[in-house]
Amino acid sequence: MNRAVSFFIFVGLSFGSFSAEKLSSGLIAKGTEWETSYYQRDSGVEGPVVFITGGVHGNEPAGARAAEQIRHWTINKGRLIVVPKVNKPGLMADIRYLPGKPKDLRDLNRNFPKTKQDPTAKDMPASALWELLKASKPDWFIDLHEGYDFHQINSDSVGSSIIDVKGELANAIVPMMLEVVNATIADPKKKLVRLRYPVNGSVARAAHEKLGAASMILETTKKDQPISKRTRQHRIMVHTLLLHLGMVNKGTAHVLAPSKAEGLKIAVYDAGGVGGSGPRNLDKVFTGKKVILRRVGAVDIRAGILDQFDLVIFPGGSGSKQAAALEMEGREVVKKFIDQGGGFVGICAGAYLAASNYKWSLGISNHKTFCETIDLPEIGRKSMWYRGASSPVKMELTEEGRKILGEVKGVFDVRYHNGPIMSAMGKEGLGAFRSLATFRSEVSRYKPQEGTMVNTPAIIVGEFGKGRVLCISPHPESTPDLYKLVRNAIRWTVPNK
Ligand SMILES: [Zn+2]
Repeated sequence: MNRAVSFFIFVGLSFGSFSAEKLSSGLIAKGTEWETSYYQRDSGVEGPVVFITGGVHGNEPAGARAAEQIRHWTINKGRLIVVPKVNKPGLMADIRYLPGKPKDLRDLNRNFPKTKQDPTAKDMPASALWELLKASKPDWFIDLHEGYDFHQINSDSVGSSIIDVKGELANAIVPMMLEVVNATIADPKKKLVRLRYPVNGSVARAAHEKLGAASMILETTKKDQPISKRTRQHRIMVHTLLLHLGMVNKGTAHVLAPSKAEGLKIAVYDAGGVGGSGPRNLDKVFTGKKVILRRVGAVDIRAGILDQFDLVIFPGGSGSKQAAALEMEGREVVKKFIDQGGGFVGICAGAYLAASNYKWSLGISNHKTFCETIDLPEIGRKSMWYRGASSPVKMELTEEGRKILGEVKGVFDVRYHNGPIMSAMGKEGLGAFRSLATFRSEVSRYKPQEGTMVNTPAIIVGEFGKGRVLCISPHPESTPDLYKLVRNAIRWTVPNK
């Protein structure tokens, strides 16, 4: 073991069996700006050694996120070593390269030992990762990446492909990985294809040529696809390999979060009907906090993944489109999750989704929204939910609001963008909501909207079955000064944690 690699070990019992799976973790490039964690699971049973990396390129987040999920998978044989965030500063800055490095060293995936050259890696963090790789003696090496476009549509990008080394081992499994992941993709042009051979200087090529590992680079595509979908594709491909190797059980591909965690386990819906910056802002709200935050899609929800979480957040966008993406089955899953004690947070669109006045809404919060369609002279038929572009409004906390959200006194600004104007629905069998905050100003575009927003509730809470439901009409999650208020609001939905 190289001295740059620190090491500590703890023993955990693998779930559902008595086999002692030994978990350990440590840091590579310790004490440098490139310091990053690695995790090892040793099944204690003879078997293959699989090494997985994510975040080699900082602007390819799905690989890092998938690796962070995969590291929690219980394994039955062999060893699994995962380094989720190899280029951590790049991931933080959302840039491909190693921040601050000169041009000839900035692409981490060109700094590994090249064909017919010395088996040494150039510079940090490549040299630190290379030492851990050598010490681990991997049979398989998997590097998780993303392209900017679908390779079948734009051949300049390697997006949606598996780039593997030649060899019998890969030949036996890569076609199967493609088949399984492609079965989840409807558009033939967006299906993954097999490419070869990993570029010179890449860690995948070096792991094969210098260490004898069967290597592959898995590439998803960033373009027009939510992170939940890209991480799911990575998980499915890796799971197919590990299942083929006899290392994991069926169904493990849907494990997104550890079964036990100190902090809140939060699912953030990011798929159909979600607008621009909501999920990204929620990442910022929880930066540096001890929580498990995972992006989830409608497919994941229908597959039952909410059981791994304490609460689910539906951010801004379109409530009706979120409902459509969930489909009837997904909506029922969400309702059951809340009914049985899960937390629900709806922000803007998510507060429409929770409402009780639409055919498509969940009916888990006893409010209706002001959304009539009105004939306006000389303008035409207009739906009243639309109030124009994003703009600041005034908001004030109620007494209960100050208890739950924190002592913010007086009136303050919050960003508003067509959030619901909420009022009592009076639905039977569902308790009335309580208001935590009140709008103290309003925005309107059409005459009938004037006076309908000011002094109405901006944030409301209620119960549905054993679960708690929080609806926020404006967007406090896009203002750093209000992050704490948002965290307090979200935490309220899970009283026992
Ligand atoms: Zn890449």
